[in-house]
Amino acid sequence: MGTKAEEHIFRSHYPPVPVPDDVTLPEFVLEGAELYADKVAFVEAVTGKAYTYGEVNRDTRRFAKALRSLGLRKGHVVIVVLPNVAEYAIVALGIMTAGGVFSGANPAGHASEIKKQAEAANAKLIITNGPHYEKVRNLEIPVIVLGERIEGVTNWEELLEAADRAGTTEVTKEKILQTDLCALPFSSGTTGTSKGVMLTHRNLVANLCSTLFSVGPEMIGQVTTLGLMPFFHIYGTVGICCATVRNKGKVVVMNRFELRTFMNALISQEVTFAPLVPPIILQLVNNPIVEEFDLTKLKLRAIMTAAAPLAPELLKAFQNKFPGVQVQEAYGLTEHSCITLTHGDPRLEHAIAKKNSVGFILPNLEIKFIDPNTKRSLPKNTPGEVCVRSQCVMQGYFKNEEETAQTIDENGWLHTGDIGYIDDDGDIFIVDRIKELIKYKGFQVAPAELEATLLTHPSVEDAAVISLPDEEAGEIPAACVVMNRSAKESEEDIINYVAANVANYKRVRMVRFVDSIPKSSSGKIMRRLLKDMMLEKMRTS
Ligand code: AMP
Repeated sequence: MGTKAEEHIFRSHYPPVPVPDDVTLPEFVLEGAELYADKVAFVEAVTGKAYTYGEVNRDTRRFAKALRSLGLRKGHVVIVVLPNVAEYAIVALGIMTAGGVFSGANPAGHASEIKKQAEAANAKLIITNGPHYEKVRNLEIPVIVLGERIEGVTNWEELLEAADRAGTTEVTKEKILQTDLCALPFSSGTTGTSKGVMLTHRNLVANLCSTLFSVGPEMIGQVTTLGLMPFFHIYGTVGICCATVRNKGKVVVMNRFELRTFMNALISQEVTFAPLVPPIILQLVNNPIVEEFDLTKLKLRAIMTAAAPLAPELLKAFQNKFPGVQVQEAYGLTEHSCITLTHGDPRLEHAIAKKNSVGFILPNLEIKFIDPNTKRSLPKNTPGEVCVRSQCVMQGYFKNEEETAQTIDENGWLHTGDIGYIDDDGDIFIVDRIKELIKYKGFQVAPAELEATLLTHPSVEDAAVISLPDEEAGEIPAACVVMNRSAKESEEDIINYVAANVANYKRVRMVRFVDSIPKSSSGKIMRRLLKDMMLEKMRTS
């Protein structure tokens, strides 16, 4: 019998979908690849470099064999420091096929940030390319470099050729199980700094089964997806690369956003589906560059918007400008293996974002909304913390039992730190966030990490970082800083200090000097109070 706190549990209005229990993630997504051997799976929009399904299948195994010959074993973590490139999925699937654990790092990160991730993950190997090699060269971990030949460093292409000469076609005798870890993306979760999110083959296969439930056989091989969202992030790894490979579509790979290149790629590559984030949708709506293009040439049928809230006015403006393009909203989080809520089959009546909800509950998932104080579950139309229970829930944070226990409760519910509610039609709305996370253009920024950076400044006595709303980026990190009495620095100096020490997207965009940081009796920063104070100051100044 359920406890009282579990009275209001909501399930998908779609029937459950089966999840195969005997395949690894690479086996699941590459199933049937040879039937599409000549079809392009990944093509770089700018260079035209491409891999067919036959090549993706072959090179995944070649790379896995090569990794085994280098000594990679089950459970070993490999950090991948790559922008979106045509080889990215081969690298990730190759690591998993060898029994390793793929951990994507943001290639925009500073050397110190990548070092932190490599140390926290106890990484055994790093894979990067020429332009990013500098960031990892001083780590005491072996490196493989794609493309460029650097003296004394293992080259990816040469490694694959060496694997061919080894003769055997078998990757390993070691049985890789669905319960084994296959990915360790980093997320700051509800508090603190970035932590490894332990995901198994089962987690990701289950996520793909739930997400792709509505894709009919007539859509297999038919969809051309824009691969602009970062592949190191779960949205790119699972939502774009794995989902497309599973459905034998084509990914048009782009490694940075530049509007003209983006529009050219959409038109010339006949992209039919574009997973995006709200700041890019804002550009499509507002930037006059878009008018330079003949929009009647677009083959785009749908966009997905996820990772951050989409303002209702922006949704409307997009629908007015691109009336033939469906908008599929989605909500997800790394700790739940990617997508969690979305509008389902675009052919169904309910599918399209009509009300600016983030979507419906996917098949196989249970959702509840709880009062953050009493933890009691709440009925329909009542906002509470979104909790989800399914086979997609992570195994926990790597070597961090305390934060794992704070995030997954004893009944298996993942507490998301987001506030939302479900309406009478089963539409779910995300209305607030109680966790500390800041989302700058969809990228995670952890306040605790920026606070730690601020505190390394000799004149800073105390600091708190909060998020402020921003039309272009969605949210921006802003800092309240207590300076010591003899400090001479200006607020601008502190902004520049942080900028010199963190990746560009994590920079604090605003600093205000304050006399003290309000804290609760347990020492927790009262962020909501600070945010209201900053907003008030902005309104009155
Ligand atoms: P990440 O693990 O980087 O994918 O970040 C997950 C977090 O992004 C969620 O917990 C939400 O706070 C936020 N998020 C993701 N999708 C949406 C959405 N559609 N609307 C509002 N917030 C979202």
